[in-house]
Amino acid sequence: QSKELSQARIDYHVALQSLQEHGTRMVCTGKMHTDRICRFDYLCYSSEAEEFVFFHSNSSVMLPNLGSRRFQPALLDLSSVEDHNTQYFNFLELPAGALKFMPKPVFVPDVTLILNRFNPDNLMHVFHDDLLPAFFTMKQYSDLDDEARLVFMEGWGEGPHFDLYRLLSSKQPLLKEQLRNFGKLMCFTKSYVGLSKMTTWYQYGFVQPQGPKANILVSGNEIRHFAKALMEKMNITKQDEAEKDGGSSEQERERDKKDEYIAVFSRSTTRLILNEAELIMALAQEFQMRVVTVSLEEQSFPSIIQVISSASMLVSMHGAQLVTSVFLPRGATVVELFPFAVNPEQYTPYKTLATLPGMDLHYIFWRNSKEENTVTHPDRPWEQGGIAHLEKDEQERILTSTDVPRHLCCRNPEWLFRIYQDTLVDIPSFLKVLKDGMKSKPSLKKTKIATTVHPGRVREAHCQTSVQTPNEAKLTVSWQIPWNLKYLKVREVKYEVWIQEQGENTYMPYILPQQNYTFSENIKPFTTYLVWVRCIFNKNLLGPFADVLTYSL
Ligand code: UDP
Repeated sequence: QSKELSQARIDYHVALQSLQEHGTRMVCTGKMHTDRICRFDYLCYSSEAEEFVFFHSNSSVMLPNLGSRRFQPALLDLSSVEDHNTQYFNFLELPAGALKFMPKPVFVPDVTLILNRFNPDNLMHVFHDDLLPAFFTMKQYSDLDDEARLVFMEGWGEGPHFDLYRLLSSKQPLLKEQLRNFGKLMCFTKSYVGLSKMTTWYQYGFVQPQGPKANILVSGNEIRHFAKALMEKMNITKQDEAEKDGGSSEQERERDKKDEYIAVFSRSTTRLILNEAELIMALAQEFQMRVVTVSLEEQSFPSIIQVISSASMLVSMHGAQLVTSVFLPRGATVVELFPFAVNPEQYTPYKTLATLPGMDLHYIFWRNSKEENTVTHPDRPWEQGGIAHLEKDEQERILTSTDVPRHLCCRNPEWLFRIYQDTLVDIPSFLKVLKDGMKSKPSLKKTKIATTVHPGRVREAHCQTSVQTPNEAKLTVSWQIPWNLKYLKVREVKYEVWIQEQGENTYMPYILPQQNYTFSENIKPFTTYLVWVRCIFNKNLLGPFADVLTYSL
């Protein structure tokens, strides 16, 4: 492998000289360690010390230059999980002169992305924490292209989903343990360290109970862009995609309807559906559709995605496999099942995903509320929900509790006990939830028409004032349409006007269909008013306010 890297793509002596003369150079984005990604020239790694090394010279650059604040708590997060104390990145410093006394460095010619995978054994974590963030970090820095080298520093082995990480670039990703094969000192000619957190939508409950992130910055469009790119790499093509998009004939639509099917994602070792066959029969009968089962234990990942990417509905127990909803077609339904005593409102990674704006998935959950239909496993090891190691009183309390109280990640025994139960799904209650849930499913046509283009500012806003009597006055406000409106087909265009009396902190809001209006209610002479105007498309696409107008009557 070291041969592969030291091929003559770079001139060794030029590289060595550059490192000796200029040292390491670092320029980062981000004000805080939690939103920082750094780009390095000649960042080195000592496999002996298991540390990254920054070589100082007269011309080395370190921006931000934090001094010892670099250790409070760290330069940056190496994984996409925010501020996790096992995922910090930092480097040691040495003068470039020390190179003379060190093993000869091996240079890595590839542009490298250095990161920690958070939990490569778990499919949800693989997608949410690693693949999506790495994919979009690579989009952010254009030299992280298909030839980029990924280096995983968390120290784990390949894990069961390594093939998915391989899809990110044409080069084999490197693991921490492999770095020693390159010698005692390796230097990355050009590297980026850290991951974008822009695409993550869930926090796992390290500091507060788990839930959607406070400020979600990703929409279904980016998730689907990523899913499509991954499917292309896996050579999966959605059948009839082209036909379905281009106005298909009545017969074609009929045939598509006949081809519709439901995918049941089955788990075969833990958190089982005990009457899966019965559930499948019920689904087939209720929807008059084929039902196909998939499982990570029985199929390759691409063959699972092939099935999911054309399914009308995905049914599964709560669990990491549900992250495959990113591959469902728009308009599909996700049905998530929860074991007894687990509150679906408190564990929403898949609900949050399915309901991201523009994801266009319909989300339904079912919860087992019959204790007689649950099968517990108190004698299993604690990480699979066993409770035998606990005090008798505590075991008793857990066994009689019917709702897991809110808790932090990751070792709460009551949570683990309940989430690893197997479930006999009560078919009548399941079908009822499903039928009720399907009633509120929006038709895809409606959502498709809805544009996501926001209005521009209204233009040339004016006010005219007139004082009628000592007690009555009028304020006429008019404006022109936003510039982008003339290029758009918008179902409904409205304007919002706020009128505030100067010095007051409340305002009167008006929603108007036309481009001018005369206000006389509550308008007083000898008063100064501030007037804001903005445009609204289709009830909820708000534009920016135009510059405030100030008018004295
Ligand atoms: N898994 C599976 N079948 C099973 C149990 C687990 O395929 O019967 C997969 C699961 O989808 C996840 C990984 O194994 O990718 C770890 O599962 P775990 O139950 O620990 O995590 P969870 O699904 O609750 O996130």
